[in-house]
Amino acid sequence: MDFFFPKTCVVCKKAGEYICTNCFSKISYNVKPICAVCNNLSMNGITHPKCFTRYSIDACFSAVVFNFQVRKIVYALKYKPFLSDLISEVSDLFYEVFIQNEMLFNISQKYNPVLIPIPLSSSKMRQRGYNQSELLAKNLSKRLGLQTVNLLIRTKETKPQFGLSKIERKENMKDAFGINNRYIQYFYHPEQREGSRQNNKLNSAFLVDDVLTTGSTLLEAANVLKRNGFKRVYGLCFAREQNF
Ligand SMILES: [Zn+2]
Ligand SMILES: [Zn+2]
Repeated sequence: MDFFFPKTCVVCKKAGEYICTNCFSKISYNVKPICAVCNNLSMNGITHPKCFTRYSIDACFSAVVFNFQVRKIVYALKYKPFLSDLISEVSDLFYEVFIQNEMLFNISQKYNPVLIPIPLSSSKMRQRGYNQSELLAKNLSKRLGLQTVNLLIRTKETKPQFGLSKIERKENMKDAFGINNRYIQYFYHPEQREGSRQNNKLNSAFLVDDVLTTGSTLLEAANVLKRNGFKRVYGLCFAREQNF
């Protein structure tokens, strides 16, 4: 395939690689850890005790800063699915940053969480034919030895979050997610499943998304999971917008 489609950098178009050395060097890992509820700084992205309620997300983590280079990379993930090497490069990067976070790494070992991608709206899924967050989740879960399950579905069409205020984003995402009926037996008939280790699987989740802005999408998704019996829900995002 390389013969017909020579690789070019998805950021600067230079020939050779999907992310050239120069553009790669401009990726920043200096992501400010913030609480998803109040958007203020918080150690490890853990939801502040004062912000935490019964169905809140426990913590949110992002690997890289959503800067000019990362914006181009995320765009390519969304619209150029044939670049499977790019997905795997991005997932490698995601994984490398992830395993350096001691808290998350310990959670992944101790609680055997499932990775749950944030689903696309059905109109976007029809347009694009795939969900980039699902591809990231699947690649990441493979590297972590965990499972990806499409446990969430979109239950309403939402407006694009771009350009909305924090309050409007929250309102826009309200009731946007539901549980995929195919997996409902995991919640209500745990005795039918094999082995105790498997029973623990759906206690903990990593919600996977490509870009984190105010956190309203993750908060809403976590709310649905916790209402359905999850004990721990953490957000894993590839990139984080620092200015909005
Ligand atoms: Zn480049
Ligand atoms: Zn807070």
